[in-house]
Amino acid sequence: KIVDGEKLRKKLHNTILELKGNIRVFCRVRPLLSNESGAVSYPNNGENIGRGVELMHNTQAYSFAFDKVFDHSASQEDVFTEISQLVQSALDGYKVCIFAYGQTGSGKTHTMMGNPEFNDQKGLIPRSLEQIFETSQSLMSQGWKYKMQASMLEIYNETIRDLLAASRTSIQDGAASKYNIKHDSNGNTQVSDLTIVDVRSINEVSSLLKRAAQSRSVGKTQMNEESSRSHCVFTLRIFGVNEGTDQQVQGVLNLIDLAGSERLNKSGVTGDRLKETQAINKSLSSLSDVIFSIAKKEEHIPFRNSKLTYLLQPCLGGDSKTLMFVNLSPEVSSTSESICSLRFAARVNSCEIGVPRRQTQMRSLSQG
Ligand code: ADP
Ligand code: MG
Repeated sequence: KIVDGEKLRKKLHNTILELKGNIRVFCRVRPLLSNESGAVSYPNNGENIGRGVELMHNTQAYSFAFDKVFDHSASQEDVFTEISQLVQSALDGYKVCIFAYGQTGSGKTHTMMGNPEFNDQKGLIPRSLEQIFETSQSLMSQGWKYKMQASMLEIYNETIRDLLAASRTSIQDGAASKYNIKHDSNGNTQVSDLTIVDVRSINEVSSLLKRAAQSRSVGKTQMNEESSRSHCVFTLRIFGVNEGTDQQVQGVLNLIDLAGSERLNKSGVTGDRLKETQAINKSLSSLSDVIFSIAKKEEHIPFRNSKLTYLLQPCLGGDSKTLMFVNLSPEVSSTSESICSLRFAARVNSCEIGVPRRQTQMRSLSQG
């Protein structure tokens, strides 16, 4: 619980500096569900938060290390505790992106949204918002006034859909002319026609999240579970003014539930499904390409290769902060997908943006 925002901010200052401009990768293995059997064991030294992931596949051992690894017993609160500073830094004017990457069913939505109705099952989005509101209120005594604006959209087949629109735009008229992405002179992303909601209290946020969840689940039945085939981007813009000192801050918090990363069995996939998969592969690989180009300080960063990277352009690189969760399912049948996810994560994790940091994190025993 945050008691005094200013105190906390001072205490966290060093840690935040360390995070500045860096990419962090956290891994989370969900528990086996009641209808599943055959769990892979992910040894974690008896702690629910460790650093290593090891798994066996076809008699080969695979071993990875990340900034943090949460095992099946890590609660939503355990996870949030580890990222709360990062969330906090958006109030200090940083641009923050937190992604959840993994195959469908690995726990991305649980990690990001969870079940906001139950306190212990709330995910990062409701927890982050609660913390931001609490802290911003405690900072009022020091003259800070904050304005917050939220938006929530989905990117499906490279088409944007507004999850907060009063009436749901159907996929047919997900018109190309709507929801154009632009970057204004202040380096902020503007999406034309996108609903932007001023949020002033936790209650307003709750109803907003409910609205978005409804939009998403309507899509689910109508459109063949396509919510797992789309990226969901929640954005909170924070404008802070200190009336005493005239200081101003503008921070952005992006929380992104990525489309399922699973590969389809290529044979026999045609039509819409093929197009869909190609769009997902393209945007997920664009994301890692962008992260890599930034890390290598390349002159040309290929932001424009996908809607997702173009949308997030101002919030990737520079002194922004990025965290990626790699979600894994413990089922034996998911092992090969898990290895793919871990490789993607290891690739992202080997990036250093700006500040030097600890030795390379990956030590894969076997490269295929
Ligand atoms: P994804 O969004 O990656 O497709 P979900 O978040 O929907 O996956 O998770 C799949 C299922 O597993 C859901 O029923 C979810 O409630 C459950 N689940 C995921 N992570 C956890 C967890 N850490 N603890 C308990 N149940 C989980
Ligand atoms: Mg999901």
